[in-house]
Amino acid sequence: MYTLTDLIAPLGLARWQQADCWPGAVIDGIAHYPSTPSRQLQSPIDAQDHGKLLPASAVEVRAAVGCAMVAFETWREVPAPRRGELVRRIGEAVRNHKTLLAQLITLETGKIGSEAEGEVQEWIDVCDYAAGLSRQLHGLTIASERPQHRLLEQWHPLGVVGVISAFNFPVAVWAWNAMLALVCGDAVVWKPSEKTPLSALAATALVLDALRDFDGAPSGLIQLVQGDASVGEYLAGDRHVSLISATGSVAMGRAVAQHAAARLGRSLLELGGNNAAIVTPSADLELATRAIVFSAAGTCGQRCTSLRRLFVHEDIADALQEKLITAYQHLSIGDPRLPATLVGPLIDEAAMKRMHAALTRAEIEGGRILIGGGQVRAGGNIPDGGCYVRPALLAMPEQTDVVHEETFAPLLYLMRYARLSDAIALNNAVSQGLSSAIFTTDLREAGAFIGPAGSDCGLANVNVGTSGAEIGGAFGGEKDTGGGRESGSDAWKHYMRRATNTLNDGHALPLAQGVRFG
Ligand code: NAD
Repeated sequence: MYTLTDLIAPLGLARWQQADCWPGAVIDGIAHYPSTPSRQLQSPIDAQDHGKLLPASAVEVRAAVGCAMVAFETWREVPAPRRGELVRRIGEAVRNHKTLLAQLITLETGKIGSEAEGEVQEWIDVCDYAAGLSRQLHGLTIASERPQHRLLEQWHPLGVVGVISAFNFPVAVWAWNAMLALVCGDAVVWKPSEKTPLSALAATALVLDALRDFDGAPSGLIQLVQGDASVGEYLAGDRHVSLISATGSVAMGRAVAQHAAARLGRSLLELGGNNAAIVTPSADLELATRAIVFSAAGTCGQRCTSLRRLFVHEDIADALQEKLITAYQHLSIGDPRLPATLVGPLIDEAAMKRMHAALTRAEIEGGRILIGGGQVRAGGNIPDGGCYVRPALLAMPEQTDVVHEETFAPLLYLMRYARLSDAIALNNAVSQGLSSAIFTTDLREAGAFIGPAGSDCGLANVNVGTSGAEIGGAFGGEKDTGGGRESGSDAWKHYMRRATNTLNDGHALPLAQGVRFG
């Protein structure tokens, strides 16, 4: 079984390890070891010691932003397809390190191998997408109301993009932002989760190596500052950061949005979800069961898109409930490094306490645990020192207070409905609006769900679970989820500034709206 020691040299981390300490900042390619109190790192799998992080202070954050500004001034002049070539080469480097990087992600998050590899694949896919996009950063030409005038729209590089990311996708979320930002001509300062600093260092090492070998790319394009919320706040509050893209809890998003708004800065928010699926009488129950179990129990319920609420038509509720209980009985829980494991540990003890508190509240609010919920003790495939739990399925009499909250753990609340319109209303009744799904073979039901009066979420799927989005679509959600969109479609526009140009190639000076002056 691999450990961190096996990955340090092949992932290029050895250059930064000083005794058992890791740098809290990498600025212009140079590691900084601030003298702030250190943070002890350990794997959620088995509490294995990963050394200490020396978090950045406000000084390092300011320095990183300053260096990124300098890099931006050069980079914005480099033609976009050439910028795309850099990102293509980064993608090659990531391809060559896919397994190793995935193993590091597993060690830091507790994700199973296949999901960790999927996360690295997202980075690779985004590189391919961004490289193509670098030849497609197009504006419009618009009809002018004046003779011999033209209206043009151009998209220019924006500036320094700050990225704050969550623990559960320690690399992919940053890559969605950073790879697009790079082809758009921006420089990036990254503040990863304090729970996954080594994945961030490894990702930064790969990019810095690609930058070093690339003619015309300043080393300051990618900066890293590490630490807890305060580091994120310094970054969000820095007026030289043109866009702050923040992924995490709703509480974090509210704080970041206020820092950015106070300086009239732009923010792109990707916050918590409380995702639901509706299963109608016509659904293919085998397909629905598989999708539901992956969405609810996969990643140990620690995806923003994890399925948390299930509305099942009363005519099929007993049948589906039975299938789900059987599937939950067969979930293999354990060390995520073992190929047969489907559910690894929760990230930490605080997460486990929150799960147990939610279960207790759910029971007080009339819920009944159908299966799961308990802690799995060490032994066999369960290493000592991790927080392993059995994914829980609960029958709820209605959508009570606890169901309205996102508990970042494998908890699925099952509720029954009689009319589709009621189920859609319940889907929309929570404050979050990220992902949703309907399982049906009835075209009218599917249409109602994805139509304008249907699901109010940013993602609304038919016969596909709530989690596991592809990079080609715009990813994000409404309401408390923050309204941001990342990755595919036209999300690239967030990372650029739009200039409208009016061009007069005639000799006269007609004014718009027929105004006469002099
Ligand atoms: P978190 O909010 O605790 O932390 C996320 C990041 O924000 C970390 O880097 C953290 O240090 C930083 N942070 C926290 N408070 C901050 C503040 N006041 N100012 C600036 N930065 C701050 O979230 P987490 O526990 O790491 O991740 C789980 C949460 O993230 C869940 O709510 C999940 O739904 C959400 N999430 C959303 C998406 C999405 O795309 N919508 C993706 C992944 C995770």
